[in-house]
Amino acid sequence: MLTLNIGLDDTDSPRGGCTTHLCAVLVELLSKLKVKFRDYPLLIRLNPNVPFKTRGNGAVCLRLEVEKKAVDVIKELVLKEVSRLADLSFSGTDPGVAFLLGDIPAELRRLSEQAMCDMVSLNEAFRIAEKCGAEIHTFKEGRGIIGALAAIGETLEDDYTYELITYRVPENWGKPRAIDIESVKEMDRLTSPDTFNNIDDDRVLIAPHGPDPVLYGVRGESPEVLLKAYKLVKVHEPIERWVIFRSNQGTDAHLRVKRKICNAHPYMSAVIEGVVSSKPVVSQGGHVFVKIRDDTGEINCAAYEPAGSFRWVISDLIPGDVVRVYGGIRPPSLSHPKTLNLEKIEIVKLAPNLKLHNPICPNCGKRTSSAGRGQGFKCKKCGKKIFAEKVTVELARRITESIYIPPPRAQRHLTRPYSRLNRKNAPPIKLLDPWHFP
Ligand SMILES: [Zn+2]
Repeated sequence: MLTLNIGLDDTDSPRGGCTTHLCAVLVELLSKLKVKFRDYPLLIRLNPNVPFKTRGNGAVCLRLEVEKKAVDVIKELVLKEVSRLADLSFSGTDPGVAFLLGDIPAELRRLSEQAMCDMVSLNEAFRIAEKCGAEIHTFKEGRGIIGALAAIGETLEDDYTYELITYRVPENWGKPRAIDIESVKEMDRLTSPDTFNNIDDDRVLIAPHGPDPVLYGVRGESPEVLLKAYKLVKVHEPIERWVIFRSNQGTDAHLRVKRKICNAHPYMSAVIEGVVSSKPVVSQGGHVFVKIRDDTGEINCAAYEPAGSFRWVISDLIPGDVVRVYGGIRPPSLSHPKTLNLEKIEIVKLAPNLKLHNPICPNCGKRTSSAGRGQGFKCKKCGKKIFAEKVTVELARRITESIYIPPPRAQRHLTRPYSRLNRKNAPPIKLLDPWHFP
């Protein structure tokens, strides 16, 4: 038997299709061929801060155990389904398919690490595919081979989560989703924190809003809890199929590499340790900006309006606070310098918030006012003049030395939610029965 790894990416477009749906169709077809699955299909989210991407920048990988004589049949089947289901007429959709026999070479793991937090060029992807003996198929521009190879190269050994995704029958694509919101709330009550990001206040987060085939997806810590959640969510439309994926969602996989400010270049996802070097500024649109300095330079950091109350954490920073900031680097524009778009902040050490106050009047206990430069202070009530220094007072801070992230509705697919801050999953992986339908 041979291990056949299949990577797929960029088959969807903003107007429809979905790479995970294509993968779910392949799961049905392959299971009819009595193929042995070595793992759940992998749903691998790549650097969310690159400029070229579809909705979530997600690629998929299937790891199969196959007989040598079946390899060509399977490859043909995969390529046929990609041609049939990918939205090839959309100009930005450039599917890529990669096949790799055997174990994962180190170069491919490195490519995957890079694709998670930085840019990978198409030429680099071609070069590594050749070096590793991966067979690649490009459709149109073929940008998708970067994600296809990166998905194969991600072995998800450090940490991972699962997502059970349900799909709609084609007749319903583009129509409003008929999901019983009360049943989603009930599911959340009964399964969280083993499931996460189901709802945010009253907003249901498990269902997308676009024309894609996804009805809803529930994310969680184990296949078992997702099957339980699936049974709890009530829908008033047919479910054509569902699949449990293993994924790097909710693991901060893109925010693992620390960078110095001088090395943080546009489109990277980066972690920077530094000291707050400016007072935060709140713009008219409600965005909050603050500068951070390390021993190599200074960078502007931004928390935008959709980040909700996370912005007030940023606006409560003061110069001298030691912080670790996490996010994507946005290139400079005419109106902004190079900026780190904040996705998370760890406040390592709060600086004392010192304020200088005028002394108190010894007669009546009221705070005095300045009597003019070099003239000391004067009590407005009783008229007493005092010659003394200003008094230093330390004000309480509203934020604490801890990690802050934006609310679920503003999080990336890759964002590690509060419920996972001290949680990790590790192999071995056991395939649940059933883990897909049909
Ligand atoms: Zn007085």
